[in-house]
Order: sequence, then C-alpha cells, then structure tokens
Amino acid sequence: MSYNINNKGYYGEFGGAYIPEMLYPNVEELRQNYLKVMAEPEFQNEFQQLLKDYVGRPSPLYFAERLSEEYGAKIYLKREDLNHTGAHKINNTIGQILMAQRLGKNRIIAETGAGQHGVATATVCALMGIECVVYMGEIDIARQAPNVARMKMLGAEVRPALSGSRTLKDATNEAIRDWINNPVDTHYIIGSAIGPHPYPDMVTRFQSIISEEIKWQLKEKEGRENPDYVIACIGGGSNAAGAYYHFLDNPDVGIVAIEAAGKGINSGESAATSVLGKEGIIHGCKTLLMQTDDGQITEPYSISAGLDYPGVGPLHAHLYRSGRGEFYSITDDDAMKAGLELSKTEGIIPAIESAHALAVFKHKTFKENDVVVINLSGRGDKDLNTYIDYFNL
Ligand SMILES: *Cc1c(COP(=O)(O)O)cnc(C)c1O
Repeated sequence: MSYNINNKGYYGEFGGAYIPEMLYPNVEELRQNYLKVMAEPEFQNEFQQLLKDYVGRPSPLYFAERLSEEYGAKIYLKREDLNHTGAHKINNTIGQILMAQRLGKNRIIAETGAGQHGVATATVCALMGIECVVYMGEIDIARQAPNVARMKMLGAEVRPALSGSRTLKDATNEAIRDWINNPVDTHYIIGSAIGPHPYPDMVTRFQSIISEEIKWQLKEKEGRENPDYVIACIGGGSNAAGAYYHFLDNPDVGIVAIEAAGKGINSGESAATSVLGKEGIIHGCKTLLMQTDDGQITEPYSISAGLDYPGVGPLHAHLYRSGRGEFYSITDDDAMKAGLELSKTEGIIPAIESAHALAVFKHKTFKENDVVVINLSGRGDKDLNTYIDYFNL
C-alpha cells in the first residue's frame, strides 16, 4: 500500500477537489502545472537557496539528552522553531510564492485564523514585492492584535470577515470568493495540507524538506537514516506531513500523530478531529471533520490556536483509517505541562502546538534504544501570554 497521493488526487478514500465550478479554472491551472514547475532545476535552486539563506535551513536535529534520560529513549527534536518567523509555515509560503511567480500571478490572497499563516504569507510577499491580502475573521482580528500588526508592518492588507461566526471558516469563505472574482492574476496560498487537490500534495512536498533533512542528520548522528518513531502535532497537518513524508512507505518507522483534545475528547470542547470526526467535505476536500448529525461543521476548541481546526488533511485521515498512523489526543492541561517541562529540562520554550506532541511521553512508553524524532513545529514566544495566564507566571 502506498500512503502517497494517487493520480486522481486521493489518499485512499480521502482528498479530491470538491469545489464550485467557478473555481475550477484556477485549481485546474495549478493542478496541471505544480509538479512540472517543482521539477524545474531553476525553481529548485531558488527554493533551496531561500530555505538556506532566508529561512535559515537546515534546521538542527537536536539530541535532547535530559529529556531522553527522563523518558528512557533517544529523543531528538527537529528544530523548526528556529526558522525565520518561528515555525515551519514559512517552508510552504516560500514554495507557494515561487509557484505563484512561475504561474504569472502578481497578487496573493490568504486566510488566517490565529494569524500565523497570515504572517508567513505577508513575509514572503514582502520578500518578493507582491501585493498581499489576508482575510481574517473580525473576532480573530480582535484576539490576535500582535499578528495583525505584524502583517501590516509587512505591507499586507488585512481584510475582516464580517459574516457568520467571524472566525477562520468565514475568512476562508471570503478568500475563496476573492479568488473566484480574480482568477487570472491571483494565487491563493493555503496554509496547511488541506484544501482541494493539488494543495495537500503541494504543501506536503514543500514541507517534506523536514524529513529529507532528518534522514541525513540522523545518519550523521546515529549511523542510520530511519528513526523508530516520528512524532508531530496536527492542526491541518502540514508540519506532520512534512516530517512523515520520506518515511511513509517504510513500515519500520512508526508514525505518531498528536491531536488537540482541548478540555477532553468528550467535553464538547476539543479539536480531536480524527477520533471524533466523520467523513465530510471541508475546504474543498473529502476528509474527516467534526460535524453535527446533520452535517454542520462543529466549532473546534484548543488552547493552542494552531490546532484549533475542525478538519484534518486528507493524508492524515488516510493514515488514521488505514491504521498506518498511531493517533493520540492530548488535553490542554497535558500540553501546557509538557511545554513547561521542555522549557525547564532543555531550555527551549515551545509553541503550545508543539507542546502537544511532547506530551506523548505521558501516554506512550518507548524502549531504551528507540530513536524518537519529535517535530518541534514552532517556538513559544507567540504563546507567552497564554503561558503567563495558565501558570500565573
Ligand atoms: C500552524 C501551526 C501548527 C498547525 O498546523 P499544521 O498545518 O498542522 O502543521 C502547528 N505548530 C505551529 C507552531 C503552528 O504555527
């Protein structure tokens, strides 16, 4: 069985492109060109050069000695938190801005919830001198003032989504409406391994630099390319997809996925999408998503804004259904404790999203010699206020 996308744009039964007819030309143009463009040596050169000089790659693979002693396994942290802008998201936005240029687009749109993807998009638009419009729910604009300020400093226009619950899904609707109205000159940068085909595959390929580096870094440190486990948190699933990519078809490598259980899986306030989700269509693809009995999307909840998404990318839905991936749901409380623990044992304050992945050690035991790689998707600076409130710091 292959865990990669098939030529129809599906991972197993999940994926596809469920889009309004008016979007078809845009998505089809991208589908017909993305692999061709990514294979061009000139594209690859420019992409690799920017990852190196602008993002700061390769990100280190750090052996966490004290954490390893604590949990009795060889624990490595893949330091995506050290990237420019503080997380893995920039790998994708760099790739997509180069793609947009190759397709002759001179205007970028994006949607953002907490603002992290909006900032990563505004950053690469500033880098390239391209017009950038970011849609954001009115409620989120009020909640995420620092990221709104960042986007403005970077020259982006932040447009409020005023309809519905005025959060991420409404911002997404506005972005799609914009794209329909501007099919010729505009590229829509989606921020995770979600959306209609070819987005999940394209984003996964841009993020796959993570597992590409893990392979040679582990070879240097352990004399072998493959870890026993690779572990990542899942919002839409892009950092996880990138961390898993080169190990997907190797059954010796355990794939571990961590979702946000919020206040508990059965609390009604969670984002444990795979466990709680049912098949449905969200964001243009068929996947697992949290929904009511009559198919309305349920508002997700997590203390970490980046995991607060009601669906999961189609790759991950497939990893869940097929049993290839081992899924855990981690509560707010366990994630916050794990974030504090990493800070004290290794001197690294993680993003709360990444802290969910670190909490796996309270739920799964590893063997003494297991080589375990955790993808540290982002740094905790953006979450300082949440840490302060939670721990009364
Ligand atoms: C956005 C974000 C995530 C979740 O997004 P994925 O697409 O699932 O990777 C995880 N960690 C950090 C630090 C983020 O900013």
